[in-house]
Amino acid sequence: MIKGIIGAVIGDIAGSSRESKPVSRKTFKLFTKESSVTDDTALTVAVAEWMLDRQGVDVAQSLIKWATEYPHAGYGSSFKRFLANGSHMTPGSTHNGAVMRVSPVGYLASSIEECLELARESALPSHDSPQAIAGAQAAAAAIFMARTGKDKQEIREYLERTFGYNLHRSYDQVREEVLHARACRDTDYEASHERIVGAEPAVQDALIAFLEGTDYEDVIRKAIYLGGDADTEAAIAGGVAAAYYGVPEEIIQQALVYIPSDMLAVINKVDGTSWQPSKLIPPKSSRWSIHDVIICGCNADETDGERAFHLTRPSRYRRHHNEGYPIHISGLEMEKTLDQIWVLRRKCEDYKHIRWHLHEVGIESGVFTVEQFRELFGWALELDNVLVTPTLLNNWN
Ligand SMILES: [Mg+2]
Repeated sequence: MIKGIIGAVIGDIAGSSRESKPVSRKTFKLFTKESSVTDDTALTVAVAEWMLDRQGVDVAQSLIKWATEYPHAGYGSSFKRFLANGSHMTPGSTHNGAVMRVSPVGYLASSIEECLELARESALPSHDSPQAIAGAQAAAAAIFMARTGKDKQEIREYLERTFGYNLHRSYDQVREEVLHARACRDTDYEASHERIVGAEPAVQDALIAFLEGTDYEDVIRKAIYLGGDADTEAAIAGGVAAAYYGVPEEIIQQALVYIPSDMLAVINKVDGTSWQPSKLIPPKSSRWSIHDVIICGCNADETDGERAFHLTRPSRYRRHHNEGYPIHISGLEMEKTLDQIWVLRRKCEDYKHIRWHLHEVGIESGVFTVEQFRELFGWALELDNVLVTPTLLNNWN
């Protein structure tokens, strides 16, 4: 069992595809093709990097840095305004954005007083309203208490006493409230929105999912099944549940394909773990970072490019595009193709900060036999910054 911010990250991933489509049964798949890390993880990593080096890193700069690297992670409207200005209107948002990213504070603070102060500091750049600050402090304090051996009763009492929360409502009652708020979206948008994503209600909902849950997985399932802001609820509840129960290793193994290597490196530092990034390309393309470059095969005059490069073009489903790297695979003499693959290899070796996605589009079109493929692209398996699709990985196995 692993205790650490990985618990918040996995909650975010498991909830990511359930935000717009709430689950109707408790038995849903935790991870799907539509799952991905979202803003909750990107900004948790940003707060983590600040917590690991508070002398050298400014929290606002760290938030801006990670949001810039992952520009399509699904940021809230007021956070986007903060990104655009580097500051925001005071008081800032009352929403849950500072709560969802605060778990590193709970794990790395050395006393409850320091925990509360650093939670406040982590919220200030974008969420300096009293509700948002209190929400961040409550979530961080719950993690701090859980990891230092306090039981659920003590955690509940402390949070109710310190923040005036009511954590005695039942999970079922809370779920009814959330579903009701969701149903009132069209008639009273403001109240509905505030009930679902307001820091004050959201942190209490997540804490109640934790208090009534029976283990890590049950807690994040409960947080998602509430039917509200699923990824954020599960990130908050998952952060606390991981400190209390720990996260089973087999769940982490399943989640690794969704976690980009640069985020995983920071998570490992906070948690004291050494998870290796997956060799597979994270499935949801709209969440790739600005450092992901897509390698596709195409024919010599690139007329096949429209198909081969669809992953690098904006479309109805993709508002942004990643850079594409075409290699001319058909319609050229083999010698020229080999030259191109050789150049590509040098680039992958030299530009380590780029994650190269070796995609099967245009490559897996019957041009190469499996044996040729292994010979031409064997080096890709050796480089940590080259990722491949499951189909291509099968060629090596
Ligand atoms: Mg999110």
